[in-house]
Amino acid sequence: MAQNSSCRKRPNILITGTPGTGKTTTAAALAEVTELHHINVGDFANEENLTNGWDDTFDSYYINEDLVCDALENLMEEGGNIVDHHACDFFPECCFDRVVVLQTDSSVLYDRFIKRGYSDHKLASNTECQIFQVLLEEVKENYPDDIVIILKSDSLEDITKNVETLTSWISNWSPVV
Ligand code: ADP
Ligand code: MN
Repeated sequence: MAQNSSCRKRPNILITGTPGTGKTTTAAALAEVTELHHINVGDFANEENLTNGWDDTFDSYYINEDLVCDALENLMEEGGNIVDHHACDFFPECCFDRVVVLQTDSSVLYDRFIKRGYSDHKLASNTECQIFQVLLEEVKENYPDDIVIILKSDSLEDITKNVETLTSWISNWSPVV
């Protein structure tokens, strides 16, 4: 899926982070304001049958990453997408103009997991995922520092603020020439 960001008229944004940090809530709110296209990668893979069984740790299907990348190629080339997923290492670096990592305090996140009815195992593994900053490390390994932004997502006020920050960034974005 190699591509040059200058081909895009609107930016592609990845929103990632530990499950429960608010990726889908944030991406949906941002899509509503900006009219960018929200792609929930897990839902997309399910709808298109691009899955390989259930991942009990992340509470979602294992997606077939190659098939998902191929299926999204045209949309990503066009630009104007908000991609919402808890992993990021399989998307080519050139896909994104901005990579957002949502971070939630582990005790706040723990309460969200309880509300979601997570098993002890899932509670522990997802809480550890946040504490050890697994997603942030994955992002740092795969994307240049200057496109990465870390945003706190502890409260609804944070979501409002984050959507404002990202909306303003999107409206100021222009294609690289
Ligand atoms: P993710 O897509 O990262 O798994 P969701 O957007 O589905 O997270 O949010 C999980 C739950 O946590 C939802 O019930 C949502 O309302 C709540 N939530 C997410 N982010 C926040 C936040 N910043 N403040 C308060 N509640 C939040
Ligand atoms: Mn989600």
